[in-house]
Order: sequence, then C-alpha cells, then structure tokens
Amino acid sequence: MLLSTSARLISRRLIQSGTRRTASTSNAFRCNEENLRNKALPYYASATAAALVAVGAIQHNNSQNATATEGLSVQEAVNAVEDKFAVYWPRNIIILFGPPGAGKGSQAPKIVDIMGIPQLSTGDMLRAAVAAQSEVGKQAAAVMKAGGLVSDEIVVGIIRDRIKEADCRHGFILDGFPRTIVQAKALDKMLTEEGACVTNVVEFNVPDKVLEERITGRWIHKKSGRSYHVKYAPPKSMKKSWKGEIDTASMIDDVTGEPLIQRPDDTAAALKKRLAGYHNDTEDVLDRYKPKGVVKNINANQGMEDVWKDIQVSLLR
Ligand code: AMP
Repeated sequence: MLLSTSARLISRRLIQSGTRRTASTSNAFRCNEENLRNKALPYYASATAAALVAVGAIQHNNSQNATATEGLSVQEAVNAVEDKFAVYWPRNIIILFGPPGAGKGSQAPKIVDIMGIPQLSTGDMLRAAVAAQSEVGKQAAAVMKAGGLVSDEIVVGIIRDRIKEADCRHGFILDGFPRTIVQAKALDKMLTEEGACVTNVVEFNVPDKVLEERITGRWIHKKSGRSYHVKYAPPKSMKKSWKGEIDTASMIDDVTGEPLIQRPDDTAAALKKRLAGYHNDTEDVLDRYKPKGVVKNINANQGMEDVWKDIQVSLLR
C-alpha cells in the first residue's frame, strides 16, 4: 500500500517535471529494424516503472544492505532511475499525422498528460512568431493566412532548435511536422545523428467534407489554445440571432471570460488550399514511414472519447 502510494506520487512528479538534469542520448541506442519492431515503452509506463524500480531498490537495500542506492533518498533514487531511462532507453518520437481539423491539436495534450513528453506544434510555434513579429513571423504571416506552406528551411530550423531542449530528452510529440518529404528527411537525419528514430506515426483519418464544417465552425481561446465549435462544442455564452446567425460578441471562453477568435486561415478558401497541400505534399510522408511498421491508422471521424481510446491503443507496443 505504502509502496503503491509512493510510486503513484513519484510517477506523477516524474510526469509533471519534464525538465531537470539533461543526459545525452547520443549513442544511447541505435535505431535499427530491431528497435523499430520493439518500440519504445510509452513514457507513462517508463515513469511508473522508474518510480517502482526506485522505491523497490530502496526497500531492497534496506533489507539487504546493498549499495546501488544506499544512502539515497527516494527522490535521489528516482532521479537516478530517471536518468538511466534518459540515457539507455529509446526516446518516444511520435508524429501526429492528419489533415487540418482532424483533431491532432485537441488530442495531443492528452498524450502529453499520459506520457510526460512535450507536444511540438509547428503551427503554434509559427503563430507565436507571427504574434511576436519576429523575422520568422514576418516571413511566415502571409503564406499562413493564405493556407500555404511555410518554407522547409524555416520549419526545420525551428524543430532542430526545439528538440535540443531538456524536456525533449525522453521524446516528443510532433503535431503538424513533417509536412513534406524534405522535412521528413531532415527530421530522420537529425534523429539518426542522435541514434534515435520515429517510433510512432498516428494517422488521423477524416473525410474532407467533414473537415470543412469542423474548420469553419472553429473558435479558439488564443492564450490557452482551448478550442470550441459553434455546433459541436459551443461556449456556454454563445447566442444566435432569430435568423440563426452567431452573435460574435457572445463567443467568450468558458474558463477566463476572454473573447474567442477565429484563426485567419480557418476560412473555406484557405482550407481548400491547406487540403490540397495535404493531399499533394504531406500524404507522401506516410509512404516513408509505412515500411518501418510505425504507422497506425485511426478513425478520427467519431466522438472525441472514442478517438482518444483508439490513440491509446495505437501507442501501446
Ligand atoms: P496548423 O496549426 O498545423 O494547421 O498550421 C497552420 C499553418 O502553419 C499551416 O497552414 C502552414 O502555413 C504553417 N505550418 C505549420 N506547420 C508547417 C510545416 N511543417 N511546414 C510548413 N508550414 C507549416
């Protein structure tokens, strides 16, 4: 009882911490056919395992007088085990793959919760750059608004910098990247240099005609990324005129009371271009990963809870 409570608390701490000491993953393992078949443990399992191993080791030491974790507090033992995972276990590198409006951004935070690895959304990063009016943002703004693709050079550069950060040491979830073969090749090269590889590609399937309704009815709370839909998930405050038109002033975030916005590229015209880009350039990326046995196809044209169940199954070994 004591053990399981401690383990739960410790694993929660592990999942929440994400960042602490960095440990090089170079040469930690080689990503070959063998470890593609025996893919990485989902991080929640490894975090729980780390906690159990640490607590178990301390209890064992107490009874056996062993030395491995002798004199260490539970916290220090957990840190030691966690560092072992960072050095010797494969990183979970997950690609969420699917057209705009497929639900990648809505489901990703749940994967973050269970696995304790960060979501890297190139769309969010680019929107932040546009809002900050940085050099990258200035170059990306117009093409994003029109629903086109930002240059490979820019997005690859953004990802290259981001995945070096400490919170990515156990892995990361890519949302909206790679979108072209050039980006996929660049990603694989970066990973190969570290002895890592893509471990899961979760492909969200939704027919195009469903996407238009999803995208054009979407409203967002900018700061939190909370997403609403005029038909399927309206904010509590939403009002309509007698003609059935939405009163835009009533589109308010349920949690903060702040106004919601519509993304400038969430229009029917921009969506047409975004979908064409997806079918012409992005779908080819799947063909690169299919032979490696890492692509899992899920039906994203069902309720969010059922999509989430399918995602969890797709992440199991
Ligand atoms: P998203 O939020 O993923 O729908 O991305 C919004 C927009 O950001 C896209 O329509 C593109 O203009 C741009 N963008 C995001 N990720 C990429 C990428 N990997 N390559 C090129 N452009 C991207």
